[in-house]
Amino acid sequence: MEKFGFSLQKARVINYDSNDRSIVEYVLEREPSLKLCIECGCCSAACTTGNFTDFSLREMHILLKRGENNEVRNKIKKCMLCGKCILVCPRGVNTRNVVFLAKQAFQKYSAHAV
Ligand code: SF4
Ligand code: SF4
Repeated sequence: MEKFGFSLQKARVINYDSNDRSIVEYVLEREPSLKLCIECGCCSAACTTGNFTDFSLREMHILLKRGENNEVRNKIKKCMLCGKCILVCPRGVNTRNVVFLAKQAFQKYSAHAV
């Protein structure tokens, strides 16, 4: 077969029906400002952790809202809760509290699972 220097990527499908939105619902109930997020990325640009790792708060918000909790659970551990992201958010999202509540929800639900 002729090689063109590229290959087909595996299909990337987001299945909202099988995703679990329990974590984002827990967060939204306690911190409704997350609904105002327009995914602009200012928080990621200002993020202390993001300056030194591949952590992106914007990406985390997107995954959280989709219910892709396994990815969020791994990424969220990197946040140090320093609060710099709150200072730059143009929509007034309490980003630090969003991370704090998501961490709390993961603890709560994993405790129930045991
Ligand atoms: S800065 Fe605010 S509006 Fe922009 S992505 Fe972050 S949380 Fe969302
Ligand atoms: S609170 Fe977390 S997400 Fe926000 S700037 Fe600090 S390390 Fe980044």
